[in-house]
Amino acid sequence: MDKTAQTVWERCLQFIKDNIQPQAYKTWFEPIRAVKLTDNSLSIQVPSKFFYEWLEEHYVKLLKVALTKELGDGAKLVYIIRMENTYGNKKPFTEKIPSNNRPAVPSQELDVPLKNKNPELKNPFIIPGIRNVKIESQLNPNYSFDNFLEGDSNRLARSAGLAVANKPGGTSFNPLLVFGGVGLGKTHLAHAIGVDIKDKYPEKTVLYISAEKFTQQYIESVKKNTRNDFIHFYQLIDVLIIDDVQFFSGKSGTQDVFFHIFNHLHQNGKQVVLTSDKAPVDMQDIEQRLLSRFKWGLSAELQSPDYETRISIVKNKLYRDGVEMPEEIVEYVAKNIKTNVRELEGAIISLIAQSSFNKKEVTLDLASQIVEKFVKNTKREVSIDYIQKIVSDYFQMDVATLQSKTRKRHIVQARQLAMFFAKKYTKASLASIGSQIGKRDHATVLHACKTVDNLAETDKQFKKYIEEISQKLTL
Ligand code: ADP
Ligand code: MG
Repeated sequence: MDKTAQTVWERCLQFIKDNIQPQAYKTWFEPIRAVKLTDNSLSIQVPSKFFYEWLEEHYVKLLKVALTKELGDGAKLVYIIRMENTYGNKKPFTEKIPSNNRPAVPSQELDVPLKNKNPELKNPFIIPGIRNVKIESQLNPNYSFDNFLEGDSNRLARSAGLAVANKPGGTSFNPLLVFGGVGLGKTHLAHAIGVDIKDKYPEKTVLYISAEKFTQQYIESVKKNTRNDFIHFYQLIDVLIIDDVQFFSGKSGTQDVFFHIFNHLHQNGKQVVLTSDKAPVDMQDIEQRLLSRFKWGLSAELQSPDYETRISIVKNKLYRDGVEMPEEIVEYVAKNIKTNVRELEGAIISLIAQSSFNKKEVTLDLASQIVEKFVKNTKREVSIDYIQKIVSDYFQMDVATLQSKTRKRHIVQARQLAMFFAKKYTKASLASIGSQIGKRDHATVLHACKTVDNLAETDKQFKKYIEEISQKLTL
């Protein structure tokens, strides 16, 4: 028999009914309508956003099991929420939200051998000599591998992360160090590894912590004279994830304590995952013995995503938020925000907000205003090196040629343009511009700027050069 949304949902319901209280079934499942089935994705309509939130919070596991039974491993669930006319419009509108399938990470319990401490623990149910502690993993279940989109820029780091999650402590990627600039996904990937490990190995104790918080805890432990407890606690963890370890630089006490924890974990086959905004070779004020430990495993870089990956990231974000947006807007945003995924997401969120609060349609114009705001703050700093690179690329010569002493007209022009843009886009002095662009003096630079100004007014072709290079520099 062909599968339809209805038949699939009927069968899910039977399974659900057998597994929950009749009253809960009546309240939360009877009002649901199955509306659409495409491939392995079932859309169900729920009466309100609250309803959707309740289902996601309390029944997402059950729903996932039921749906996977019917549709296989890649089964997806999409909620369709019918909203009443919020703006007083006639038409009710609908919102589509895909299920996260992400219940909270369960809390972890650990049996800690008591070293004749805490005599107040007299509970007879506690095995003598053993103390049971709860450790919250501090993991954010919303950061998963599923929503960490793959591209050339992150393939190595992502696959290494997956390998570690499959066999924590059992690969040569120990420690796994993920490094890269701001907003490129280090924190996301770090959580995803932990979340995936908790899925696959619920019995393992996983702990995510920022290097900053780790440092605070350490300082606190020194103050309270509990440094040893601090060390022992961390030595009990199976998978220790420390975010932004560049924060350790210059803090020798913290480095020392981490060194001991690290050695203990590593010797016992426990997994360590670290992130940093720099490669180990570029880290400063970190002790040599610690740096050498960082290099034991694998250092994998997260780079700026290429255009294709940026497009998928934007589309995925829209999909998860249940928002539709014209293709040309998606392309425009992905084309113009290049270096930072956080900004890419920020621009999209801001676009969605602008359009829904002000009831404005999302147009290219609105998109360009918003993108401008995001790009301005970060991309303004253009370097003289970068200018020389762009100008020489534009005239298809290399930078050495641009800087050479030759008097060939087109080369002189390129050099003068580079000087002109350096004056316009950087805060560098004329002398400094001159010395960086082929060791000229400040008078030469001044002359170049005047020449460019003149030619811009008299020579159409030259004016076009200026405009086109300008555009490349400010994109
Ligand atoms: P970092 O820690 O490197 O500064 P984050 O992990 O905080 O960066 O990432 C910034 C934002 O970009 C987060 O919202 C994250 O979910 C998102 N992001 C980064 N890389 C990806 C990716 N490959 N796919 C989807 N989202 C990503
Ligand atoms: Mg981070």
